[in-house]
Amino acid sequence: MAKTHYKLIILGAGPAGLTAGLYAARAKMDHLLIEKGAEGGQILLTDWIDNYPGFPDGISGFDLAEKMLAQANRFELNSLFGNVVSMDLTEPVKRLELEDSDPLTCNTLIICSGAHPRPLGIPGEKELAGKGVSYCATCDAPFYRNMHVAVVGGGNTAVQEAIHLTKFADKVTLIHRRDELRATKILQEKAFANPNIDFIWNSNATKIQGTEGVEELHLKNNDGKESVLKIDGVFVLIGVLPNNEMLPLDILKADAGGFIPTDLETRTVVPGVLAAGDIRSKEVRQVINAAGEGATAVLAAETYLTNLS
Ligand SMILES: Cc1cc2nc3c(=O)[nH]c(=O)nc-3n(C[C@H](O)[C@H](O)[C@H](O)COP(=O)(O)OP(=O)(O)OC[C@H]3O[C@@H](n4cnc5c(N)ncnc54)[C@H](O)[C@@H]3O)c2cc1C
Repeated sequence: MAKTHYKLIILGAGPAGLTAGLYAARAKMDHLLIEKGAEGGQILLTDWIDNYPGFPDGISGFDLAEKMLAQANRFELNSLFGNVVSMDLTEPVKRLELEDSDPLTCNTLIICSGAHPRPLGIPGEKELAGKGVSYCATCDAPFYRNMHVAVVGGGNTAVQEAIHLTKFADKVTLIHRRDELRATKILQEKAFANPNIDFIWNSNATKIQGTEGVEELHLKNNDGKESVLKIDGVFVLIGVLPNNEMLPLDILKADAGGFIPTDLETRTVVPGVLAAGDIRSKEVRQVINAAGEGATAVLAAETYLTNLS
């Protein structure tokens, strides 16, 4: 009969989960890493990562994911393709329900389920998603060769991806609701120096229109003035929402945004349940701290298991 109980289960194989998997496998813990999609998580959505140490020229998100997985596999990572749909964390032995396979149980659980891009929530967005509305420049930029696209957002991701889009699109218009970008200075300098990027400040996207694909982006500036941009594509890059639909949010005392609070050792309020990476309640969501928290969580899990026996 297939094994159904593990000392440690890691949920999600983004940078946090892959690092937790590396630490658990290398420590020869009785572990299982569960992932419902492709290993790598959100880094698969980005073209280039310039701020993860050890890669002086930067690295593509895809290559970094492959390297993280290969490193964990070198220590015999035990992983399963599966979608966790719910869980019971009320008993010392935690129980996970999966979509297409038998339930699994564990003594410790590390939640690394991450996040996903936040939608604008405006008319036309849902209808034209995949037909000109995109949340991933890396995935979709090549479709916009010689076209004019808009990027909505002002943080690191929006600016980085606007720069990437200029490799394909003739013109990229970045729309931001404030009068200055939140992105780091170095990214701002690159974007301002790029002749193919222009900026619309103090404006919100209010509607996306088109029949077969995106044709118009409607804007309203902070003085109430409305305008329409003729456009071939809209990239929405305005932050992330937690992947928490399978989590008992009340028991984990999720914050108002649905992220999971932990202490510095990544311990949630439930004994034996840790959370690492973008699903944690925190300010900075980057690969470097997701990986660091994945490592911390395994060490916290080891301490918990030692105290159990
Ligand atoms: C477009 C974009 C560009 C970015 N650029 C950078 C950058 O340049 N530098 C940087 O440091 N950071 C960047 N980030 C942020 C970085 O990608 C995240 O901080 C990091 O991926 C978080 O890692 P994580 O492991 O916590 O979560 P994620 O990467 O979100 O991974 C979570 C994983 O859990 C899986 N999962 C979720 N729910 C379930 C379930 N129910 N069952 C099974 N599996 C599940 C998901 O499929 C996913 O693979 C970028 C993000 C985006 C979207």
